[in-house]
Amino acid sequence: MKFKYKGYIGKYLRIDLSTGKIQVERLNPKFAETYLGGEGFGVKILWDEVPPSVNPLSPENKIIFATGPLSGTFWPNAGRLEAVSKSPLTGIYGDSNCGGFFAPELKYAGFDYIIVEGQSEKPVYLFIHNGQAELRSAEHLWGKYTLETERLICNELNDSEVKVACIGPAGENLVRYSSIIVTPNRTLARCGLGAVMGFKKLKAIAVRGCGGVEVADSDGFRNLSLELHQKLRNNPLYPSVRRYGTPGIVTLMNTIGRFPTRNFQQGSFEDIDSLSAETLRESFFVKDISCFACPVGCDKIYEIKKGRATGLRVSSFEYETINSIGAGIGSGDLEAIIIGNDLCDNLGMDTISAGRSISFAIELFEQGILVKQDTEGIELKWGDSELMLDLLNKIAYRQGFGDLLAEGVRRAAQVIGKGADYYAMHVKGQEISAQDGRAQQSMGLTHATSTRGADHLKGFPTIDETGYPEEARRRFGEKYLPEIAQPQATKYKPFLVKDGQDFGAVIDSAITCKSGGTFVMAEIYWDEMARGIRLATGMEIDSEQLKLTGERIYNLMRCYNILHGISSKDDTLPERILKEPSPSGAAKGHVCRLEEMLPEYYKLRGWDQKNGYPARRKLEKLGLKYAADAIEKYSSKL
Ligand code: SF4
Repeated sequence: MKFKYKGYIGKYLRIDLSTGKIQVERLNPKFAETYLGGEGFGVKILWDEVPPSVNPLSPENKIIFATGPLSGTFWPNAGRLEAVSKSPLTGIYGDSNCGGFFAPELKYAGFDYIIVEGQSEKPVYLFIHNGQAELRSAEHLWGKYTLETERLICNELNDSEVKVACIGPAGENLVRYSSIIVTPNRTLARCGLGAVMGFKKLKAIAVRGCGGVEVADSDGFRNLSLELHQKLRNNPLYPSVRRYGTPGIVTLMNTIGRFPTRNFQQGSFEDIDSLSAETLRESFFVKDISCFACPVGCDKIYEIKKGRATGLRVSSFEYETINSIGAGIGSGDLEAIIIGNDLCDNLGMDTISAGRSISFAIELFEQGILVKQDTEGIELKWGDSELMLDLLNKIAYRQGFGDLLAEGVRRAAQVIGKGADYYAMHVKGQEISAQDGRAQQSMGLTHATSTRGADHLKGFPTIDETGYPEEARRRFGEKYLPEIAQPQATKYKPFLVKDGQDFGAVIDSAITCKSGGTFVMAEIYWDEMARGIRLATGMEIDSEQLKLTGERIYNLMRCYNILHGISSKDDTLPERILKEPSPSGAAKGHVCRLEEMLPEYYKLRGWDQKNGYPARRKLEKLGLKYAADAIEKYSSKL
C-alpha cells in the first residue's frame, strides 16, 4: 500500500536488541503531518516511549535514527541524518545531526527511520538492505577504531558502497560524550549518543539500498531545487565557505571576541594566525569533498605532509575542533589539532566536550584545585598538545584521571568539589561550543535556552555576529534594523533566537544542513522550505503552518525536559559568562546580559515567567494538549 504522502517511504524499523526481534512498521500519515520527520519524529517517540524514570544508560532508553521528507532528494543539502535519544551526558532530551550519505541510503533501503531499543547480550551490528534488516555478530569489531570498523564491515558485506554509522572505544566505554561516526567520517557528535549504542552493545548500523524517493510534483520540485542550488552558489559568502569551510570563520570569531580561549578566560587567541583558515589550507589542504546533494561543499580533506604523522588524512575538520582542542587549551599547534581530530574520530568522541573537559582540568590545576596527586603525577599546563593527545586516549579508555573527565565537566566538578563548578563551562550538563555569549548576546541566549544543553546550532543566530543587514531585512523586515545586527544589543534578540530555534526544528526534521550558516538561511527560509515540503510531499502546508510545526517540535522538546526537572532556573550560563567581563577582543568589557532577554523570550514563546513552562493555551494551539496535561500533573506533585 502506497503511503499517503510522497517524500516519505512510509515504513520504519523497530529493533529490539534484547530479544533480537525486528519489526517493519507502517508510518502513520497523521504522525508525518504533525511532526514532519527527523527531530520531530524523535522527540515524539521519546515522549511516548521513554518516560522520565528511564536511565539514559539502560535497556529502556531508545535511540532513533531518522530521515525527513527532503532526505535523499535533490533539495540542497538533503543528506543530513538526525539521531535522537535521552542523553547520557545531560539526562534530558538529546539529539545529534550529521551530513554525509547515510540518510539518503536509509530511504533508498526502504525506511524513514529506525527505533533501536533493549540491550544485546553480545556485540552486534544491524545490517539494513533493500527492505530487510538483520542483526549480525560484532564481537570481532568490538574494541576497534571507527574507521577500521567501517572498512571491515564493507569488506564483510563485500560492498564498498555500504554506509556505516558506528561507535569506537569511547562509546563502548560509555564516555558520556562519545559520538557516532557516519560514512564518510561525518559525526553525530553531541549529547553522547555513542554511549547509548555502546550500552546497547550495538557497534554499528550498516545500510545499503537501491530504491529512490518519489516527490509529489517532480517538475515543480526540481525547478525550485535548481533555483536554490543556484542562489546558494551566487550568494556573496559562497566563495569563502566553499574555499575554507567552517574554519573560514576562525579569524572573524577571534576578532569579535567569540573564540573561547583557555577555558573561556579570554574570547580571542593571541596566536590566531597559526590557526587561521589560510594557514590550514596552505599547509594541509588536499581536496574539496561534499555531502549528498550539497552545492556548498564545505568539507575538505587535509593531510599532514611532513613530520611524525606524515600521510595522516582527516576530513570534517571543523571550526569547533580548531577551537576546542586548539585555542581552548591555549594551543596554536595546528598539526597536533589535526592529529587530535583524527584520534577523536577514531575513538568516537565529541571534540567539543572532550576539549572543554581538558581545558577545565588545566584551569583547575592552574587554580590549585587539582594537584599532581589527583592527576597521576601529570602536570597540566596550557598549550601542551602532547598532554591533550594523551588525555584524549585516557578519556576514551577511562584510564586513570581520564575516567573522571569522561563524565563531562558538570559531573567531574561535582566529584572534585572545592569550587570546581565555577570553571565547568556547560549549560544543562553539555559543554559550551566555540561561541562566547559575551561577544554576541543572541548566542548567549541560544545556549541558555537550547533544548539539548549548551548548543549554538538549535537557534543559530548569525545575523548579529557580523551584522548582515541584507539578511536581516529579508528575514525580519525594516522595523528590526539596525538593532538586530548589533552583537551587543539585546533588543529583538529574543525574537531572533526564537524564530531561529523554530526554523532550526524544521531544518532538523526536514532534514537539511545548517553548517553553511547564515548564507543558507539567507536563501532558504520559511517560504522556500514550505514550498519545498509542499512540492515534495503533496501536503497542504504554507509558511505560517510550517512555523507552527517548528514551534510544536520545539515546545515538545521543552515539555519533555520539564518532566525531567528542567525549568527557568536551568536557562542560564556559567557565572564566568554572566559576571566576568570579557578581557579581550571586540567583546572586551562585556558580559552576557541574559536578564535583559529572557523575559521577552518567555513572553514570545508563551512560557510562564516564573518557571519557563509553556502555557496550556499555547500548547493546545500547537496540538499538544497531551503535553499540557502531563505538565499540569507533574507540577501538581512538586
Ligand atoms: S554545507 Fe558542508 S556539512 Fe552541510 S551538507 Fe554541505 S558539505 Fe555537508
